[in-house]
Amino acid sequence: MAPAAAPPHQYLIALGSNVRHARHGAPAQVLRAAARALDDAGLAVRALSPIIASAPLGPSRRRYANACAVITTPLEPAQLLARLQGLEHRFGRVRRGAPWRARTLDLDIVLWSGGALADIHANLVIPHPACRQRPFVMGPAMRIAPDWRDPLTGLATKHLASRLTRRRPAPR
Ligand code: ADP
Ligand code: MG
Repeated sequence: MAPAAAPPHQYLIALGSNVRHARHGAPAQVLRAAARALDDAGLAVRALSPIIASAPLGPSRRRYANACAVITTPLEPAQLLARLQGLEHRFGRVRRGAPWRARTLDLDIVLWSGGALADIHANLVIPHPACRQRPFVMGPAMRIAPDWRDPLTGLATKHLASRLTRRRPAPR
């Protein structure tokens, strides 16, 4: 009898795009195609958030489309990162230049079912170090995984999202 398959890990993935793709079209279409490509690559997409549009970061003038997906896979984090980077390249991402550069597709691992992780060899940190400051990550995340807790702060995505959208006191 074949050994039982290892139980799959669960991951929360952030998807971002701010460049049109020759075949797929506008950034929101790129994200829809990317979600299909995740599924085709054997990363079972269990939930896909609504796609939101957000203002450009840094000197870029392009609007971003962002979303989050919950996926399950037996892949370990470093293997998954390699798979995601392969997809980014397939979508024509150029890994060069400033961090606010145009990017056809960005796929980040926000959280996973294994808690906190720092893999120096794979250059991988989970939770993604910038995720708590990014409304365009926490907003979509809370739509599909509102109770998933950040292991470092103990706060759920819905709490992290509301911290980011709460109105700040006017500067004196
Ligand atoms: P951004 O932080 O804007 O997504 P990049 O996509 O260019 O920037 O990622 C830069 C590096 O971040 C990658 O080479 C990758 O190894 C590293 N990295 C560290 N932690 C993560 C993570 N949780 N998810 C994705 N990439 C990560
Ligand atoms: Mg990235």
